Amino acid sequence: MPTEFRNEPLTDFSIAANVRAMDSAIEKVKRELGREYPLVIGGERITTESNFDSINPANRAQVVGRFQKATKELVDRAVETAYGAFQTWKNTNAEERAEFVFRVASILRERKHEMSAWMIYEVGKTWPEADGDTAEAIDFCEFYAREMLRYGTPQPLTRIQGEENQLEYIPLGVGGVIPPWNFPLAIMAGMTIASVVTGNTVVLKPSSDAPTIAYKFFEILEQAGLPAGVVNFMTGSGAEVGDIIVDHPKTRYIAFTGSREIGLRINERAAKVQEGQIWIKRVIAEMGGKDAIIVAEDANLDDAATGVVQSAFGFQGQKCSACSRAIVDARIYEPLLDKIVERTEKIKIGDPSDGSTTMSAVINQKAFRTINEYIEKGKAEGGRLLTGGGSDGEQGFFIEPTVIADVKPGATIEQEEIFGPVLAVIRADNFDEALKIANDTQYGLPGAVYSSDERKLARARREFHVGNLYLNRKCTGALVGVHPFGGFKMSGTDSKAGGRDYLSLFLQAKVSSEKVGAASRRSEMETAL
Ligand code: NAD
Repeated sequence: MPTEFRNEPLTDFSIAANVRAMDSAIEKVKRELGREYPLVIGGERITTESNFDSINPANRAQVVGRFQKATKELVDRAVETAYGAFQTWKNTNAEERAEFVFRVASILRERKHEMSAWMIYEVGKTWPEADGDTAEAIDFCEFYAREMLRYGTPQPLTRIQGEENQLEYIPLGVGGVIPPWNFPLAIMAGMTIASVVTGNTVVLKPSSDAPTIAYKFFEILEQAGLPAGVVNFMTGSGAEVGDIIVDHPKTRYIAFTGSREIGLRINERAAKVQEGQIWIKRVIAEMGGKDAIIVAEDANLDDAATGVVQSAFGFQGQKCSACSRAIVDARIYEPLLDKIVERTEKIKIGDPSDGSTTMSAVINQKAFRTINEYIEKGKAEGGRLLTGGGSDGEQGFFIEPTVIADVKPGATIEQEEIFGPVLAVIRADNFDEALKIANDTQYGLPGAVYSSDERKLARARREFHVGNLYLNRKCTGALVGVHPFGGFKMSGTDSKAGGRDYLSLFLQAKVSSEKVGAASRRSEMETAL
């Protein structure tokens, strides 16, 4: 039996040896930038006539990797290949699959800094953010492998005389795994590993903003001994490749994490039964957020300001759990704003390969444009720009951490997911009103409350309708196993990644009942008579 699950420790970058190790990983990865990577179907490497580049958001001239645009024929072939591989992979036992996933975890651990360095170049993560992402990927492997062993044990059933009954969890079939770019290792690996450890086979289509890190992970799966065809690696336009995977009659389920818009599109398309399809497709979708931190009049203001700023601007505000709304009691509004601004202005924007950088560029040109439009809209709708608001798209897609106060409930930047370094601050007359404003969105991912009053915290537990509620702490940084993560309403299908019920979404329960003992003999006699 493996030991009890424990979260992978984060790297302490105040230790010189760790800094040297990270620097040398960054140098190694730098030498490997710009290579071309194939599609992989059933273990076969395939190149196509059409390519696209994944670039460094902090240095847009730098190509991180060149990738293939898959054609419809190749995507179809990938699904068929995964379907073929399922016929044998489904018969492997839970222990064997868990062993494989433990091997993946240990290779990831050995190559930890290298994997983080790829994220520094490909998506602009700072050192600690990249390190946290890699640690979470290791956690998903360690946690889901143990979970599969648990799901693989005999399941409790009510016993009756004369029958042996058994419930076992069996896999579903071919899964389309469609991750976002913002946790390009952890979420991509989490959904892939959850699929494979439960006995399913996969067509993995990474985000076009983060295909290199997915390819590196795919290589680790091969190194750990994954049979050809169990995971197939497909790159290309989200719309083209994604739609084909989702529509294919042999696709059994989709594991998706990304925006509300694409999640709803997948949900709708997957509901349509295609010719030759003999099941209802399952959709596991984890989608966007419009996360709020409520600061009550009795909160510790220093703690609250620190929590708000860390949650709002960590990884440039590009987390589904990012605080994009601070809802602040009018009685402490101005003093809290001062503290938020003071902390925000200490953030150091720069090249993420430099270990002292605390914030870097946003992911791409499109995000750079839409985030800037949101800042303009926030001001035009009456918001007061307190700090930030500037941007520079020359070298990379840099946007200053921006705080806009006096945002009215219902305003565009109070309602829509921005997914960038923009914090809207909203004034509330009291805690009742703060809760009302916090709940008044279509999303329900995380939320937080700062207050020293236990009654207010108890009310938040009852009335703040979010999947992950944090009390007197920031709203980012969910840990696998500790804080199973996933949201309500338009934030997804209510799943909880990193929790004990997550693997059941990738499984179906089969019950077999056998007549045994005296009752069986009696019934044989009855039949004979
Ligand atoms: P996105 O929706 O643009 O893309 C997600 C994935 O879907 C990508 O791989 C993309 O290529 C693919 N895709 C695009 N069109 C498709 C189609 N027609 N069919 C199938 N797949 C298609 O999201 P993103 O920009 O990569 O990620 C940011 C979003 O993800 C934010 O909204 C964020 O809140 C959300 N997110 C949610 C969670 C969560 O746990 N709930 C976690 C991380 C990110």
